[in-house]
Amino acid sequence: MSLRIAIIGGGTAGWMTANLLAHRWGAGKARITLVEAPEIATIGVGEGSTPTLKRFFEILGIAEAEWMPACCATYKAGIRFRGWSPASGVAQYSHPFLTQIDLHTEEAFTLNCRNRRLGLDVPTAPGDFLLGGVLAAQGKAPLAPDHFPFRMEYGYHFDATLLGQFLRDQALARGVSHRQGRVQDILRDDEGAIAAVMTDRAGPIEADWFVDCTGFAALLMRGALDVPFAGFRDNLFNDAAVMLPTPSAASIPVETTATALSHGWAWSIPLTSRNGNGYVYSRDFLSADAAEQELRAALGLRESPVEARHLTFQTGQLVRHWERNCLAVGLAQGFVEPLEATALHLVLNTVDLFMDHLERGRFTPQYRDAFNAVITDRVERVRDYIVAHYKLNTRDDSDYWRANRDNGHLSDPLLHILDTWFRRGDLVALLEQQPELSHFTSASWHCLLAGYGAFPPLAEMQREDVDFYRSRDLARFLDGCSLNFPSHGDALAQMKKVAA
Ligand SMILES: Cc1cc2nc3c(=O)[nH]c(=O)nc-3n(C[C@H](O)[C@H](O)[C@H](O)COP(=O)(O)OP(=O)(O)OC[C@H]3O[C@@H](n4cnc5c(N)ncnc54)[C@H](O)[C@@H]3O)c2cc1C
Repeated sequence: MSLRIAIIGGGTAGWMTANLLAHRWGAGKARITLVEAPEIATIGVGEGSTPTLKRFFEILGIAEAEWMPACCATYKAGIRFRGWSPASGVAQYSHPFLTQIDLHTEEAFTLNCRNRRLGLDVPTAPGDFLLGGVLAAQGKAPLAPDHFPFRMEYGYHFDATLLGQFLRDQALARGVSHRQGRVQDILRDDEGAIAAVMTDRAGPIEADWFVDCTGFAALLMRGALDVPFAGFRDNLFNDAAVMLPTPSAASIPVETTATALSHGWAWSIPLTSRNGNGYVYSRDFLSADAAEQELRAALGLRESPVEARHLTFQTGQLVRHWERNCLAVGLAQGFVEPLEATALHLVLNTVDLFMDHLERGRFTPQYRDAFNAVITDRVERVRDYIVAHYKLNTRDDSDYWRANRDNGHLSDPLLHILDTWFRRGDLVALLEQQPELSHFTSASWHCLLAGYGAFPPLAEMQREDVDFYRSRDLARFLDGCSLNFPSHGDALAQMKKVAA
């Protein structure tokens, strides 16, 4: 029997979901329909990814040359953080995505961090220990040639609107049917499950399973099914963003930049067609007008006629991501905040896990509670990691940064991790023994904590007789590896040629 699945909403989350479902269940197992109201715009932001987007395209068998030029996409080896911890003496640091080859250098990095926590004056800049950091510093694409014997991990920057259109065409080619209509009502059956979604011009949409991809509106989950929302306002203060594009740089960086400003932070996301810029801030501390002026000043656009776009958002998550016969995906399920660009990462996680659990339960809700527990925990652990960026800041230029530093609403897992670090404990062992404490690896935590310079003062006595960190050997090793990689510009030009 063929399942009827209706996806409501055609933003990035809706079309990613449509492709994933069609890829796994399309041939005979499911009839998938996506309904959207084109007059309700998609959010139009969300232009940086984690390496999970690479996995998404690999699952679907779509080559980079097929989608990247069509979406003005560039490579992303990591994120450069500027100005988050000036009092520790760190003006900026690179947080690369970890790749397989970093297994050879990660130990030296964590060992140095350990020694630095004991007071020794050893280098700890994450970007000097991990290949992605070296490539970013050299402006090289993390694109390994065939003879390079290690798998590279990286993310992308892309135009969100173009990616939505690309994924729509892919989904249609995979047999997904596309209807245009605005949801006006949602009908429930006698047991409370969703029976049909009533639209203005696509008629009633009946299905066995519904996927709520209606963005922040969460029409099915929060509207019809009344699923409560657990906000993160207690420890994530940001709730608004202002955006202004600028022309692409002559040499396109391989990193997102996240620069701390007076009451939040600004992203810089390099595409081939433009640079996306946005200031994420808290309305409790800054007005929209002041945020726009500050972003304009930071970009040198004070006098520019280019119009800024403003939006507001709510951080938090549904207390259940799967309710009755409905799954929430994307902004409808919740939002942590854009730092670390984890939203599309959670989309793939959610849909993948949903399909696994539904199959395991023979297409019944048998494993719904187990699924909900995993996803809720995952979102909370992503939140913890982002909260740590704010909690550990050492800025003193506004109440906003001081309030973040004073934030006492930390979860137990986050407190445990920070406590282990500051008590000079073994974070690697902790996260190996208790992986449930974090969604991020211990190497990622070392990048964040070392990147912030979150260390005690240096010891008075330093040992000069021991080369603890083998930094010269490391540099030679990583520089040698980097010789295999093309410049970012060459890689993008080559891809365009292949695409043509
Ligand atoms: C400031 C900011 C920065 C971000 N940066 C990143 C980032 O760098 N990386 C990342 O991964 N994510 C980021 N995100 C999150 C990312 O934008 C979203 O996760 C992603 O775009 C998916 O959005 P969506 O599809 O869930 O919702 P939307 O794009 O809002 O789509 C909602 C869909 O629902 C439809 N719809 C709504 N109401 C109705 C109705 N009544 N009837 C029919 N259809 C309806 C709309 O037409 C639309 O098609 C960011 C978010 C914000 C707010």
